[in-house]
Amino acid sequence: MKHYKIAAIPADGIGPEVIDAGLQALDVLARRDGGFALDVTHFDWGSDRYKKTGALMPDDGTQQLKGFDAIFFGAVGAPDVPDHVTLWGLRLPICQGFDQYANVRPTKILPGISSPLEGVGPGDLDWVIVRENSEGEYSGHGGRAHKGLPEEVGTEVAIFTRVGVTRIMRYAFRLAQSRPRKHLTVVTKSNAQRHGMVMWDEIAAEVSREFPDVTWDKMLVDAMTVRMVKKPRSLDTIVATNLHADILSDLAGALAGSLGVAPTGNIDPERRFPSMFEPIHGSAFDITGKGIANPVATFWTASQMLDHLGEPDAASRLMRAVEKVCADGVLTPDVGGKASTQDVTDAVCEAIRIEN
Ligand code: ATP
Ligand code: MG
Repeated sequence: MKHYKIAAIPADGIGPEVIDAGLQALDVLARRDGGFALDVTHFDWGSDRYKKTGALMPDDGTQQLKGFDAIFFGAVGAPDVPDHVTLWGLRLPICQGFDQYANVRPTKILPGISSPLEGVGPGDLDWVIVRENSEGEYSGHGGRAHKGLPEEVGTEVAIFTRVGVTRIMRYAFRLAQSRPRKHLTVVTKSNAQRHGMVMWDEIAAEVSREFPDVTWDKMLVDAMTVRMVKKPRSLDTIVATNLHADILSDLAGALAGSLGVAPTGNIDPERRFPSMFEPIHGSAFDITGKGIANPVATFWTASQMLDHLGEPDAASRLMRAVEKVCADGVLTPDVGGKASTQDVTDAVCEAIRIEN
Protein backbone atom coordinates (compact mmCIF):
# COMPACT_ATOMS: atom_id res chain seq x y z
CA MET A 1 0.00 0.00 0.00
CA LYS A 2 1.26 3.47 -0.87
CA HIS A 3 1.49 6.05 1.90
CA TYR A 4 1.36 9.74 1.03
CA LYS A 5 2.44 12.37 3.53
CA ILE A 6 0.06 15.33 3.43
CA ALA A 7 0.65 18.65 5.22
CA ALA A 8 -2.71 20.23 6.09
CA ILE A 9 -2.64 24.00 6.66
CA PRO A 10 -6.28 25.03 7.27
CA ALA A 11 -5.29 28.58 8.41
CA ASP A 12 -8.00 31.26 8.66
CA GLY A 13 -11.73 31.89 8.48
CA ILE A 14 -13.60 29.14 6.63
CA GLY A 15 -10.26 27.45 5.82
CA PRO A 16 -10.53 24.97 8.73
CA GLU A 17 -14.18 24.21 7.86
CA VAL A 18 -13.50 23.32 4.23
CA ILE A 19 -10.22 21.50 4.93
CA ASP A 20 -12.03 19.37 7.52
CA ALA A 21 -14.65 18.54 4.87
CA GLY A 22 -11.95 17.71 2.32
CA LEU A 23 -10.12 15.42 4.74
CA GLN A 24 -13.34 13.53 5.53
CA ALA A 25 -13.86 12.82 1.82
CA LEU A 26 -10.21 11.84 1.32
CA ASP A 27 -10.44 9.44 4.24
CA VAL A 28 -13.50 7.71 2.78
CA LEU A 29 -11.81 7.53 -0.64
CA ALA A 30 -8.64 5.95 0.75
CA ARG A 31 -10.65 3.34 2.69
CA ARG A 32 -12.75 2.53 -0.34
CA ASP A 33 -9.73 2.31 -2.69
CA GLY A 34 -7.56 0.27 -0.33
CA GLY A 35 -4.46 0.91 -2.43
CA PHE A 36 -3.24 4.04 -0.68
CA ALA A 37 -3.29 5.78 2.67
CA LEU A 38 -2.86 9.44 3.56
CA ASP A 39 -0.77 10.35 6.60
CA VAL A 40 -1.99 13.84 7.45
CA THR A 41 -0.03 16.26 9.64
CA HIS A 42 -1.80 19.46 10.75
CA PHE A 43 -0.02 22.81 10.96
CA ASP A 44 -1.66 25.58 13.01
CA TRP A 45 -0.15 28.37 10.92
CA GLY A 46 -2.10 31.50 10.00
CA SER A 47 -3.37 34.79 11.36
CA ASP A 48 -4.02 33.58 14.93
CA ARG A 49 -0.41 32.51 15.17
CA TYR A 50 0.61 35.92 13.78
CA LYS A 51 -1.38 37.72 16.50
CA LYS A 52 0.33 35.65 19.21
CA THR A 53 3.89 35.45 17.88
CA GLY A 54 4.27 38.06 15.12
CA ALA A 55 4.70 35.46 12.37
CA LEU A 56 2.16 33.39 10.43
CA MET A 57 4.54 30.48 10.16
CA PRO A 58 7.88 29.62 11.80
CA ASP A 59 11.12 30.81 10.16
CA ASP A 60 11.93 27.28 9.08
CA GLY A 61 8.35 26.70 7.85
CA THR A 62 9.21 25.66 4.32
CA GLN A 63 11.95 23.36 5.69
CA GLN A 64 9.28 21.63 7.79
CA LEU A 65 7.14 21.08 4.69
CA LYS A 66 9.90 19.81 2.45
CA GLY A 67 9.47 16.11 3.16
CA PHE A 68 5.74 16.05 2.38
CA ASP A 69 4.20 14.72 -0.83
CA ALA A 70 1.64 17.53 -1.02
CA ILE A 71 0.25 20.50 0.90
CA PHE A 72 -3.50 20.84 1.44
CA PHE A 73 -4.17 24.51 2.11
CA GLY A 74 -7.33 26.27 3.37
CA ALA A 75 -7.39 30.07 3.20
CA VAL A 76 -5.41 32.88 4.74
CA GLY A 77 -6.49 36.39 5.69
CA ALA A 78 -8.18 38.05 8.65
CA PRO A 79 -10.07 41.32 9.01
CA ASP A 80 -7.61 42.69 11.59
CA VAL A 81 -4.38 41.74 9.79
CA PRO A 82 -3.26 43.65 6.66
CA ASP A 83 -3.66 41.66 3.41
CA HIS A 84 -0.05 42.03 2.33
CA VAL A 85 1.10 40.64 5.71
CA THR A 86 -0.99 37.48 5.35
CA LEU A 87 -0.17 37.01 1.67
CA TRP A 88 3.58 37.48 2.04
CA GLY A 89 3.64 35.72 5.42
CA LEU A 90 2.39 32.28 4.42
CA ARG A 91 1.16 31.48 0.91
CA LEU A 92 3.79 33.26 -1.15
CA PRO A 93 6.82 31.93 0.77
CA ILE A 94 5.50 28.42 0.10
CA CYS A 95 4.74 29.06 -3.60
CA GLN A 96 8.11 30.72 -4.15
CA GLY A 97 10.18 28.53 -1.84
CA PHE A 98 8.99 25.43 -3.67
CA ASP A 99 9.07 27.04 -7.13
CA GLN A 100 5.42 26.14 -7.75
CA TYR A 101 5.49 27.97 -11.04
CA ALA A 102 2.33 26.54 -12.57
CA ASN A 103 -0.93 27.65 -11.02
CA VAL A 104 -3.59 25.40 -12.48
CA ARG A 105 -7.27 26.34 -12.29
CA PRO A 106 -9.84 23.97 -13.78
CA THR A 107 -13.23 25.55 -14.40
CA LYS A 108 -16.44 23.92 -15.46
CA ILE A 109 -20.09 24.26 -14.70
CA LEU A 110 -21.11 21.45 -12.40
CA PRO A 111 -24.52 19.85 -12.84
CA GLY A 112 -27.14 21.56 -10.69
CA ILE A 113 -25.20 24.81 -10.53
CA SER A 114 -26.29 27.62 -12.79
CA SER A 115 -24.02 29.98 -14.67
CA PRO A 116 -24.92 33.66 -14.96
CA LEU A 117 -24.51 33.12 -18.72
CA GLU A 118 -27.88 32.46 -20.24
CA GLY A 119 -28.20 29.15 -22.06
CA VAL A 120 -24.81 27.92 -20.87
CA GLY A 121 -24.80 24.76 -18.80
CA PRO A 122 -22.62 21.76 -17.89
CA GLY A 123 -20.51 20.74 -20.88
CA ASP A 124 -20.57 24.21 -22.45
CA LEU A 125 -17.79 25.57 -20.33
CA ASP A 126 -14.85 23.28 -19.59
CA TRP A 127 -11.57 25.13 -19.23
CA VAL A 128 -8.25 24.88 -17.47
CA ILE A 129 -6.50 28.17 -16.86
CA VAL A 130 -2.73 27.95 -16.39
CA ARG A 131 -1.36 30.95 -14.54
CA GLU A 132 2.35 31.73 -14.54
CA ASN A 133 3.04 31.75 -10.81
CA SER A 134 6.65 32.80 -10.32
CA GLU A 135 7.41 36.05 -12.14
CA GLY A 136 5.72 38.62 -14.39
CA GLU A 137 3.77 41.53 -12.98
CA TYR A 138 3.99 40.24 -9.40
CA SER A 139 7.77 40.05 -9.29
CA GLY A 140 7.81 42.79 -6.65
CA HIS A 141 10.25 44.96 -8.61
CA GLY A 142 9.72 48.68 -8.83
CA GLY A 143 9.70 51.61 -6.50
CA ARG A 144 8.66 55.13 -5.76
CA ALA A 145 10.75 58.22 -6.34
CA HIS A 146 10.02 61.64 -4.79
CA LYS A 147 7.47 60.07 -2.48
CA GLY A 148 4.59 62.38 -1.63
CA LEU A 149 5.84 65.20 -3.85
CA PRO A 150 3.96 66.48 -6.90
CA GLU A 151 6.62 64.94 -9.18
CA GLU A 152 6.33 61.50 -7.56
CA VAL A 153 6.85 58.50 -9.86
CA GLY A 154 5.83 54.93 -9.06
CA THR A 155 7.00 51.99 -11.12
CA GLU A 156 5.81 48.39 -11.04
CA VAL A 157 8.07 46.32 -13.23
CA ALA A 158 6.92 43.10 -14.86
CA ILE A 159 9.77 40.65 -15.25
CA PHE A 160 9.60 37.88 -17.83
CA THR A 161 12.49 35.51 -18.38
CA ARG A 162 13.01 33.11 -21.27
CA VAL A 163 13.37 30.26 -18.77
CA GLY A 164 10.19 31.28 -16.93
CA VAL A 165 8.05 31.74 -20.03
CA THR A 166 9.33 28.62 -21.79
CA ARG A 167 8.63 26.35 -18.84
CA ILE A 168 5.07 27.61 -18.29
CA MET A 169 4.37 27.41 -22.02
CA ARG A 170 5.63 23.83 -22.14
CA TYR A 171 3.50 22.94 -19.15
CA ALA A 172 0.42 24.48 -20.81
CA PHE A 173 0.99 22.75 -24.16
CA ARG A 174 1.52 19.42 -22.41
CA LEU A 175 -1.67 19.90 -20.40
CA ALA A 176 -3.60 20.84 -23.55
CA GLN A 177 -2.21 17.71 -25.22
CA SER A 178 -3.61 15.55 -22.40
CA ARG A 179 -7.14 16.91 -22.82
CA PRO A 180 -9.62 15.61 -25.40
CA ARG A 181 -9.79 18.81 -27.46
CA LYS A 182 -6.03 19.45 -27.45
CA HIS A 183 -6.41 23.20 -27.81
CA LEU A 184 -4.47 26.01 -26.16
CA THR A 185 -5.19 29.73 -26.10
CA VAL A 186 -2.19 31.93 -25.30
CA VAL A 187 -3.20 35.25 -23.75
CA THR A 188 -1.03 38.38 -23.83
CA LYS A 189 -1.28 42.11 -24.40
CA SER A 190 1.38 42.27 -27.09
CA ASN A 191 -0.24 45.07 -29.06
CA ALA A 192 0.26 47.63 -26.30
CA GLN A 193 3.21 46.09 -24.43
CA ARG A 194 6.09 45.71 -26.83
CA HIS A 195 8.76 43.81 -24.91
CA GLY A 196 7.95 41.01 -22.51
CA MET A 197 4.58 40.34 -24.12
CA VAL A 198 6.05 40.04 -27.60
CA MET A 199 8.57 37.61 -26.12
CA TRP A 200 5.61 35.56 -24.81
CA ASP A 201 4.15 35.37 -28.31
CA GLU A 202 7.49 34.33 -29.81
CA ILE A 203 8.15 31.66 -27.18
CA ALA A 204 4.62 30.31 -27.63
CA ALA A 205 5.29 29.85 -31.34
CA GLU A 206 8.62 28.14 -30.61
CA VAL A 207 7.22 25.75 -28.01
CA SER A 208 4.19 24.95 -30.18
CA ARG A 209 6.51 23.18 -32.64
CA GLU A 210 7.19 20.55 -29.96
CA PHE A 211 3.44 19.79 -29.87
CA PRO A 212 2.27 19.35 -33.47
CA ASP A 213 -0.94 17.63 -32.32
CA VAL A 214 -2.05 20.63 -30.25
CA THR A 215 -3.93 23.45 -31.99
CA TRP A 216 -3.44 26.89 -30.51
CA ASP A 217 -4.40 30.52 -30.92
CA LYS A 218 -3.44 33.87 -29.46
CA MET A 219 -5.74 36.35 -27.76
CA LEU A 220 -5.27 39.81 -26.34
CA VAL A 221 -6.44 39.81 -22.75
CA ASP A 222 -9.15 42.44 -23.31
CA ALA A 223 -10.68 40.49 -26.19
CA MET A 224 -10.31 37.35 -24.11
CA THR A 225 -12.77 38.59 -21.47
CA VAL A 226 -15.36 39.08 -24.20
CA ARG A 227 -14.70 35.64 -25.70
CA MET A 228 -15.08 33.95 -22.30
CA VAL A 229 -18.52 35.47 -21.93
CA LYS A 230 -19.70 35.28 -25.57
CA LYS A 231 -18.11 32.07 -26.84
CA PRO A 232 -17.28 29.87 -23.84
CA ARG A 233 -17.45 26.71 -25.94
CA SER A 234 -14.55 27.89 -28.11
CA LEU A 235 -12.04 27.68 -25.25
CA ASP A 236 -10.25 24.71 -23.70
CA THR A 237 -6.81 25.20 -22.11
CA ILE A 238 -5.66 28.77 -21.47
CA VAL A 239 -2.24 30.13 -20.48
CA ALA A 240 -1.60 33.66 -19.28
CA THR A 241 0.71 35.78 -17.16
CA ASN A 242 0.46 36.08 -13.40
CA LEU A 243 -1.70 39.24 -13.52
CA HIS A 244 -3.82 38.39 -16.56
CA ALA A 245 -4.62 34.88 -15.34
CA ASP A 246 -5.40 36.20 -11.87
CA ILE A 247 -8.12 38.38 -13.35
CA LEU A 248 -9.35 35.87 -15.95
CA SER A 249 -9.70 33.12 -13.36
CA ASP A 250 -11.91 35.27 -11.12
CA LEU A 251 -14.12 35.86 -14.14
CA ALA A 252 -14.03 32.14 -14.89
CA GLY A 253 -15.04 31.30 -11.31
CA ALA A 254 -17.99 33.69 -11.51
CA LEU A 255 -19.09 32.27 -14.89
CA ALA A 256 -18.99 28.77 -13.39
CA GLY A 257 -21.43 29.82 -10.67
CA SER A 258 -19.50 30.71 -7.49
CA LEU A 259 -16.10 31.25 -5.96
CA GLY A 260 -17.09 28.42 -3.63
CA VAL A 261 -16.62 25.86 -6.42
CA ALA A 262 -13.29 27.09 -7.86
CA PRO A 263 -10.14 25.03 -7.10
CA THR A 264 -6.47 25.65 -7.73
CA GLY A 265 -3.21 23.72 -7.69
CA ASN A 266 0.17 25.40 -7.21
CA ILE A 267 2.34 22.90 -8.99
CA ASP A 268 6.03 22.20 -9.18
CA PRO A 269 5.90 20.19 -12.41
CA GLU A 270 9.43 18.89 -11.89
CA ARG A 271 8.40 17.39 -8.55
CA ARG A 272 11.47 18.64 -6.71
CA PHE A 273 9.22 19.95 -3.93
CA PRO A 274 5.68 19.41 -2.65
CA SER A 275 2.90 21.08 -4.63
CA MET A 276 0.09 22.93 -2.86
CA PHE A 277 -3.65 22.51 -3.41
CA GLU A 278 -6.26 25.01 -2.23
CA PRO A 279 -9.68 26.47 -2.98
CA ILE A 280 -9.40 29.79 -4.83
CA HIS A 281 -11.64 31.61 -2.34
CA GLY A 282 -10.31 33.44 0.68
CA SER A 283 -11.11 33.21 4.37
CA ALA A 284 -14.65 34.67 3.98
CA PHE A 285 -15.11 35.87 7.57
CA ASP A 286 -18.68 36.93 6.79
CA ILE A 287 -19.74 33.27 6.83
CA THR A 288 -17.09 31.80 9.14
CA GLY A 289 -18.52 29.62 11.91
CA LYS A 290 -21.97 29.44 10.31
CA GLY A 291 -21.41 26.00 8.85
CA ILE A 292 -22.44 27.05 5.35
CA ALA A 293 -19.09 27.33 3.53
CA ASN A 294 -19.24 25.57 0.19
CA PRO A 295 -16.78 22.65 0.37
CA VAL A 296 -16.94 21.86 -3.38
CA ALA A 297 -13.84 23.90 -4.33
CA THR A 298 -11.91 22.01 -1.66
CA PHE A 299 -13.17 18.61 -2.84
CA TRP A 300 -12.18 19.55 -6.37
CA THR A 301 -8.69 20.62 -5.32
CA ALA A 302 -8.39 17.41 -3.27
CA SER A 303 -9.11 15.60 -6.53
CA GLN A 304 -6.36 17.64 -8.23
CA MET A 305 -4.04 16.59 -5.40
CA LEU A 306 -4.85 12.89 -5.84
CA ASP A 307 -4.17 13.19 -9.56
CA HIS A 308 -0.83 14.82 -8.85
CA LEU A 309 0.06 12.10 -6.32
CA GLY A 310 -0.60 9.45 -8.96
CA GLU A 311 -4.08 8.31 -7.90
CA PRO A 312 -6.18 9.26 -10.95
CA ASP A 313 -8.89 6.68 -10.24
CA ALA A 314 -9.57 8.05 -6.77
CA ALA A 315 -9.39 11.58 -8.19
CA SER A 316 -12.10 10.80 -10.76
CA ARG A 317 -14.20 8.96 -8.21
CA LEU A 318 -14.21 12.04 -5.98
CA MET A 319 -15.30 14.31 -8.84
CA ARG A 320 -18.05 11.90 -9.89
CA ALA A 321 -19.35 11.95 -6.30
CA VAL A 322 -19.25 15.76 -6.21
CA GLU A 323 -21.09 16.01 -9.54
CA LYS A 324 -23.75 13.55 -8.38
CA VAL A 325 -24.34 15.45 -5.14
CA CYS A 326 -24.58 18.79 -6.98
CA ALA A 327 -26.95 17.27 -9.54
CA ASP A 328 -29.09 15.94 -6.66
CA GLY A 329 -29.44 19.52 -5.44
CA VAL A 330 -27.47 19.15 -2.19
CA LEU A 331 -26.06 22.68 -2.40
CA THR A 332 -24.90 25.37 0.01
CA PRO A 333 -26.57 28.83 0.00
CA ASP A 334 -23.92 30.50 -2.23
CA VAL A 335 -25.10 28.32 -5.11
CA GLY A 336 -28.78 28.59 -4.29
CA GLY A 337 -29.27 25.69 -1.89
CA LYS A 338 -30.08 25.21 1.79
CA ALA A 339 -27.56 22.52 2.73
CA SER A 340 -24.79 22.97 5.28
CA THR A 341 -21.11 22.24 4.74
CA GLN A 342 -21.55 18.98 6.65
CA ASP A 343 -24.69 17.99 4.67
CA VAL A 344 -22.75 18.31 1.42
CA THR A 345 -19.77 16.48 2.91
CA ASP A 346 -21.94 13.62 4.19
CA ALA A 347 -23.61 13.32 0.79
CA VAL A 348 -20.27 13.24 -1.04
CA CYS A 349 -18.85 10.63 1.37
CA GLU A 350 -21.97 8.51 0.93
CA ALA A 351 -21.79 8.83 -2.87
CA ILE A 352 -18.17 7.62 -2.76
CA ARG A 353 -19.14 4.64 -0.59
CA ILE A 354 -22.07 3.46 -2.67
CA GLU A 355 -20.70 3.97 -6.21
CA ASN A 356 -20.28 0.70 -8.09
P1 ATP B 1 -9.68 37.14 1.07
O1 ATP B 1 -9.46 38.48 1.65
O2 ATP B 1 -8.72 36.11 1.54
O3 ATP B 1 -9.84 37.16 -0.44
P2 ATP B 1 -12.48 37.31 1.58
O4 ATP B 1 -12.99 37.36 2.95
O5 ATP B 1 -12.42 38.53 0.73
O6 ATP B 1 -11.06 36.63 1.64
P3 ATP B 1 -13.30 35.69 -0.61
O7 ATP B 1 -12.90 34.31 -0.55
O8 ATP B 1 -12.56 36.58 -1.51
O9 ATP B 1 -13.37 36.25 0.86
O10 ATP B 1 -14.81 35.60 -0.98
C1 ATP B 1 -15.68 36.70 -1.15
C2 ATP B 1 -17.06 36.30 -0.68
O11 ATP B 1 -17.53 35.16 -1.40
C3 ATP B 1 -17.03 35.85 0.76
O12 ATP B 1 -17.15 36.94 1.62
C4 ATP B 1 -18.18 34.88 0.86
O13 ATP B 1 -19.38 35.52 1.12
C5 ATP B 1 -18.21 34.25 -0.54
N1 ATP B 1 -17.51 32.95 -0.53
C6 ATP B 1 -16.21 32.72 -0.77
N2 ATP B 1 -15.91 31.42 -0.64
C7 ATP B 1 -17.05 30.79 -0.31
C8 ATP B 1 -17.40 29.44 -0.01
N3 ATP B 1 -16.52 28.44 -0.05
N4 ATP B 1 -18.67 29.17 0.29
C9 ATP B 1 -19.60 30.15 0.33
N5 ATP B 1 -19.34 31.43 0.08
C10 ATP B 1 -18.08 31.77 -0.24
MG1 MG C 1 -11.31 38.54 -1.42
